[in-house]
Amino acid sequence: MNPYIQYMYSYPHKTAYRPLTGICFQDYASVLAGKGHGLYLHIPFCQSKCGYCNLFSVTGLCQEAVDRYLDTVEWQSRQYQEVLDSVHTEFSELVIGGGTPLVLTERQLERMFAVLEKHFRFGGKRGLVVETAPNQTTKEKLELLRQSGVSRISMGIQSFNDRELLALGRQHNARKAREALELIKAFDFPCVNVDFIYGIPGQTKESLLESLKEVLRFEPEEIFLYPLYVKHGARMEREGIVLEPEAAFAQYQAAGRFLHGEGFCQDSMRRFVRRDTGRAFSECGFGTSIGLGCGGRSYLGKLHFCSPYAITRTECLAQLKAYEDTKDFMKITHGILLSEEEQKRRYVIRHLLIRPGIEVERYQKLFGRDLLEDFPLVREWLEQGFAAVCEEAEQKDSKPRKYVALTESGMGLSDYLGPQLISPEVTKSMQEWEVLHGQAHDSIPRQSEKL
Ligand code: SF4
Repeated sequence: MNPYIQYMYSYPHKTAYRPLTGICFQDYASVLAGKGHGLYLHIPFCQSKCGYCNLFSVTGLCQEAVDRYLDTVEWQSRQYQEVLDSVHTEFSELVIGGGTPLVLTERQLERMFAVLEKHFRFGGKRGLVVETAPNQTTKEKLELLRQSGVSRISMGIQSFNDRELLALGRQHNARKAREALELIKAFDFPCVNVDFIYGIPGQTKESLLESLKEVLRFEPEEIFLYPLYVKHGARMEREGIVLEPEAAFAQYQAAGRFLHGEGFCQDSMRRFVRRDTGRAFSECGFGTSIGLGCGGRSYLGKLHFCSPYAITRTECLAQLKAYEDTKDFMKITHGILLSEEEQKRRYVIRHLLIRPGIEVERYQKLFGRDLLEDFPLVREWLEQGFAAVCEEAEQKDSKPRKYVALTESGMGLSDYLGPQLISPEVTKSMQEWEVLHGQAHDSIPRQSEKL
């Protein structure tokens, strides 16, 4: 069995989105009223394209092109502000991701923060997350991030082994990653997150553990472990490189055991958090958030939207051009409207794959239905030992609540179990997209597929 079918970081996947007509941003303003929303800014630029990646990012653009992009972000922000002010929207989190946000110059970064501060209202204790990469992590830029109130910095290291980094087509080497981590540590950010990849050609359990041992010297609060998914259109796909599931799974298990022994607890198949950080969890509901920039996704209740999914450089450049040419950001032209059935699926996928799991009473309250009656598959997983009912208290002194959560063995199979929750309709849309875009590999599980 291949446990690596699909990473379900959001549902439905962008390939299930289609052109929309007659939908205005203003119509959905009510779901953005008040506090607790997320704001995401996508910076779609990278120094070079990693061998496995097909995220929305382009390389080799000049400073003027980046400035033009920021001009459009400002224009989009101004238009959104008019609507958001009318419903008193207050954001509790700002995430700046990409791409590689720190490829921006210091001047561009300053402008970017100024635009966001000017047009959006944030709560006093807002989280501010920025993604970086070793080559772009300089003292001057970190100073700027610290001054701007960044609370979590996330860096893709992937490995401390230069041969593995070369195989991945990363631009940095292990020395550069160490230097970047030293710098980040010196700035004492409240939370440092580092990403690693397993299943790299030539990687062994031992070399993965060596990388993890090395990063612990820098005391990160969070470590994310990603299996190597070679994406459609990526250089490694053309070279015929695929993940070897058995070797990758053995590496995952070895890394998990190691990190548990080093004082980390596991929130999801990918996320390991240092136990002594004592971070409380909270019910994340549907996660209303606005995506700014090209490639940034917005989730406004049942409406999800973003620019059309693009993979190749030509497609990405065409999307960037269309973004910069947009006059009216109130008109929503591409996305999906979720039925009640799809909203339930989204809720279950979002919660089941991440601890503490699905709160049983909360599901009943939101949908007026019993979770296990709606999802017999989850009942099967309970019977098979991939999920369990457990009690958790949100705060130390609060009353425990009942959750359905993945067990340790279920969590390791998240990328196999999660895709089985995709509806037949969404599967069909994704398959149509794949056929249209010549995606030959069979990345979407069939509904009949069972454990
Ligand atoms: S993996 Fe990250 S750094 Fe590499 S090309 Fe993709 S977005 Fe850029």
